[in-house]
Amino acid sequence: MISSTRTQMSGLRTLGALASRRAPSTVLRVASTSTRAHNLWRANYTTSARRAQATTLADFTIPQTQTVALIEKSGGTVAIRDDWPVVQQKDLKPGECLVKMQATGCCHTDLHAALGDWPLKAKSPLIGGHEGVGIIVAIGDSSVTDRKVGDRVGIKWLADSCLNCEQCRNGREQNCADAKLSGFNVDGTFSEYCVSSCNHVSLIPESLDSQEAASILCAGVTAYRAIKHSQTQHGDWIVLPGAGGGLGHLAVQYAKVRGLRVVAIDSGEEKRQLCLDLGADAWVDFKESKDIVAAVKAATDGQGAHSAIVTASSPSGYTQAIDYLRPGGTLMAVGLPGEAKLEASIFFTVFKSISILGSYVGNRQDAYEALDIAARGQVKVHYVSKRLPELKATYEGLKEGKVAGRVVFDLEPEGCGSGCGHKH
Ligand SMILES: [Zn+2]
Ligand SMILES: [Zn+2]
Repeated sequence: MISSTRTQMSGLRTLGALASRRAPSTVLRVASTSTRAHNLWRANYTTSARRAQATTLADFTIPQTQTVALIEKSGGTVAIRDDWPVVQQKDLKPGECLVKMQATGCCHTDLHAALGDWPLKAKSPLIGGHEGVGIIVAIGDSSVTDRKVGDRVGIKWLADSCLNCEQCRNGREQNCADAKLSGFNVDGTFSEYCVSSCNHVSLIPESLDSQEAASILCAGVTAYRAIKHSQTQHGDWIVLPGAGGGLGHLAVQYAKVRGLRVVAIDSGEEKRQLCLDLGADAWVDFKESKDIVAAVKAATDGQGAHSAIVTASSPSGYTQAIDYLRPGGTLMAVGLPGEAKLEASIFFTVFKSISILGSYVGNRQDAYEALDIAARGQVKVHYVSKRLPELKATYEGLKEGKVAGRVVFDLEPEGCGSGCGHKH
């Protein structure tokens, strides 16, 4: 019995030492800015690419059922279910991995998927979530991959793409016609176990705690790529409406890493303090300011900003940006509101030589770079840690714009969260 189980487990490539292995996040977090920790992580990246696929062992058994947050039908409410089936190793396709989740962030996009208010429709029933971190516990048979059981990885909005089409070849994997989207057209990370693609999961640097890393995978990557392509140079002014929110507060930090000067737009004392603490050079409270365009111009030598990263769900945020950008400025549209139209003055767009660009999440390299910067301690996620049953209340908070920073759900067993000292 034992030996046949062993043989079977060996074939299953199931993670053995999971019970005793856990990313040593609390210890290494202290060393996040050190060169040594960074070098260790780099070495890990390099060697893991060359290492043969480790198989097996195991005193770890994939359970048959799990707890998930389920939207039974589009527009419905979130239900916590503890009887949802877990995909077993034999059911994984080549190239797929099963990840035992440790943490997942909550993004505005999850709210859109739940509400069903986009022109694209999500699958139904749906498990949302697309910025999750966990340990690979199984890999599909016949997979050709550098990922292995035991790797701590991140699952992103882009769960998979073909890697062979024109878009993928040009590094726009997110625009692949065959893209699979976590928590949208495939089930996501609001679960204890999630299936993803070995090609697209991101290795998490050791110096990053799983809960800290989670929000880098969507909010961080999205902010990072938008800023990278914002046609700005060191010292330029960038405007970040929504700067105190989940994506915005990361955008402030990535902008500072690139040497930009930041005008943060948001509202309320908590968000103002957060933005200024993160290094924003100017603050505009959109509820108190009578003229946002004038306020931005006043903050930017009277000439206007070089770029704006706009995530707003209403057209006014875009219209204002055209007005407060200086000639030659770049408007980066990043949010994905379901209905809003971008209303820009054609006259002034042309007359001021304005570029209007869209930036949609990021590719694998963007994720690598965004994680790398965070691993070196230059970007920190400000988050509140919650448990999955609080997802419904979190959606309400997001709807009302009351969430400063990010909400991250701890998916470890109850009472065994980060730093609890238990062996997992
Ligand atoms: Zn997202
Ligand atoms: Zn493709």
